[in-house]
Amino acid sequence: MRLAIMQSVKFMLIQFNFMLDKLREYTTSNQDDIITDLRKLVKHPSISAQSVGIEECAAAVNEIMRDSGVTSHIIKLKNGNPIVYGEVKSSGKKTLLLYSHYDVQPVEPMDDWRYNPFSGVVTDNKVHGRGAADSKGNVIALIKAAKAFLDNYGEPPVNLKFLIEGEEEISSINLPEFVKTNKQMLKADASLCFDSSLNPTGSASIYMGLKGLLYLEMRCKTASTDMHSALAPIVANPAWRLLRDPSVCTPVMKTPPISYSPGPVISCERPLTALTKLCPGASWLTVTISARSLSGS
Ligand SMILES: [Zn+2]
Repeated sequence: MRLAIMQSVKFMLIQFNFMLDKLREYTTSNQDDIITDLRKLVKHPSISAQSVGIEECAAAVNEIMRDSGVTSHIIKLKNGNPIVYGEVKSSGKKTLLLYSHYDVQPVEPMDDWRYNPFSGVVTDNKVHGRGAADSKGNVIALIKAAKAFLDNYGEPPVNLKFLIEGEEEISSINLPEFVKTNKQMLKADASLCFDSSLNPTGSASIYMGLKGLLYLEMRCKTASTDMHSALAPIVANPAWRLLRDPSVCTPVMKTPPISYSPGPVISCERPLTALTKLCPGASWLTVTISARSLSGS
């Protein structure tokens, strides 16, 4: 009995390796088409934080999906960026939900770019551009993996569902509600997300806990009207009151990067005592202190 199981596992592995070799071969011979589609997506600015090019990019993802054999459509959200949803049916019983996002981070500062962030320039076998890696490369990889199965085997070994959102870079604001109201549509046996990275040795990184950013704005008003800077020695400066108050700010770095602007808003980056207790993993908390009642001091 044990020998029979061993033999059957060995046979499955041989079959699996044969299948992978065939898919790799297919991917290599279709590399140009795959890169063309990736460049097409990279050339679409889709900056969720600035509402730039979102609809157009969602349409491009949808088009690439359809051209690749995925049954897909765009789901418009009432107050959010559209989601591209797709499916590929299989005679297999299991279902895999594939998650990714088509939106990208803003591109400023422009001077730091060697190539235009939306050019999709290819040099040294690399596609350059905002989102080429995070996460349009992954979006294309998932779609083309499905196409590779369809073209070589007529179907993937499991049912595939694609959930490609456009708000990941702004905290996936509407995704929890979308998932809650579309449980049946998104039902799957497992889900995969490739929105991660490789470490320098080339191994995939697995994140065991994700952290984020916390911004807050504090306001402190002392005088009820603008005052001449000559009064600074006797009138409390609200910005410095906030910065110096030890119960609010506790500097932990020898030279905290305080950026002082002559405008009405002073920004500083310091961990706040109370908040560092709440968020022990946070290394920085950004504080914007508004000193609108201050003039010239
Ligand atoms: Zn990402």
